[in-house]
Amino acid sequence: MWIDSHCHLDAPEFSYDLPTVRAQAREHGVSHCVIPAVHQASWVTSRRIAHQFGDRYTLGIHPLYIPADVSHTLRDLEKEIQKNLDDPLLVGVGEIGLDRYFQSSNAKLQLDLFVSQLQLAKKFSLPVIVHVRQSLDVIIQALRQVKLSGGIAHAFNGSLEQALQLLKLNFCLGFGGAVTYDRAHHLRRLLGELPDEGMVLETDAPDIPPQWVYIPKESRMDLRQMRNTPLELVRIAGCVAQLRKQSGGELVAYTNQNVARVLRW
Ligand SMILES: [Zn+2]
Repeated sequence: MWIDSHCHLDAPEFSYDLPTVRAQAREHGVSHCVIPAVHQASWVTSRRIAHQFGDRYTLGIHPLYIPADVSHTLRDLEKEIQKNLDDPLLVGVGEIGLDRYFQSSNAKLQLDLFVSQLQLAKKFSLPVIVHVRQSLDVIIQALRQVKLSGGIAHAFNGSLEQALQLLKLNFCLGFGGAVTYDRAHHLRRLLGELPDEGMVLETDAPDIPPQWVYIPKESRMDLRQMRNTPLELVRIAGCVAQLRKQSGGELVAYTNQNVARVLRW
C-alpha cells in the first residue's frame, strides 16, 4: 500500500468529487495521503479531511499564501498546533518554505515566516514539510541552524550534493509527476543516484500533473482538464521503480518506512 506524502485534498479542485477521488486512489493501493495545509482556512479543512478518510495532515503557512497580519497568524498557528498536538493524524508542520520562482519580491518576509515556523516546529518537536523553489541553499542553511528531527523537502529539484546535505539532516526528498517527463534528464539521473533512505513519493495533487495527464497549453481549455489526483501515485511509482531499476515491492517498502521515519507517524 502506497503513501502519497504530499497531496492537497483540501484544494478547491476536489470540492465536487473528493470522496470518489479518495476511494479510487485507495482501491488502487494508496492507503494514506499526507495533506499539508497551506493557509489558515486550510488548517481546518486539512484536519477534517484527514479524519474523514483516515489520512494525515500538517499545519503551516505556505510562502505563496502569506497573510496580511503575519505575527497574528503565527500566534494563531501556534495555538492551532498546541490544540491538536495529541491528534495522532497531525504529522508535522507544513507546508512551509521559500518560493523565489513565483514570488521573489518579498524574500525577507518569506524567510522570516519560514524561520518562525521552523522555530514553532522545534518548540513542539515536530518535523516539517518544506516547499523549495530556487532557494535550496538558503533553506538548507536555515535547517542546519534550527536542527529539527527531520522532514521532507517536497518536489525536490536540486543537485546530488544538496540532496546529500538534506539526508544528513534526516530529510527525505519528495518525487512525483515531474520525474515522468522524458525531458527531465537531471531529475531522472538524480533518481538513479539517491540512496533508498532519502526517497519518498508524492503527487502534489491537484498540481504537477504527470506526463500522461499533461495537456499542452494550445490544446487545453483550462487547467482543470489536467487535474492531478492521488490515484496517479501508483503509475508515478512504477516510473520511479523503473528509473531506479527496482521492483515496486522494494520501492513501496522503503518509501513507506522513510515517511514513517521522517514525519511524526
Ligand atoms: Zn504543496
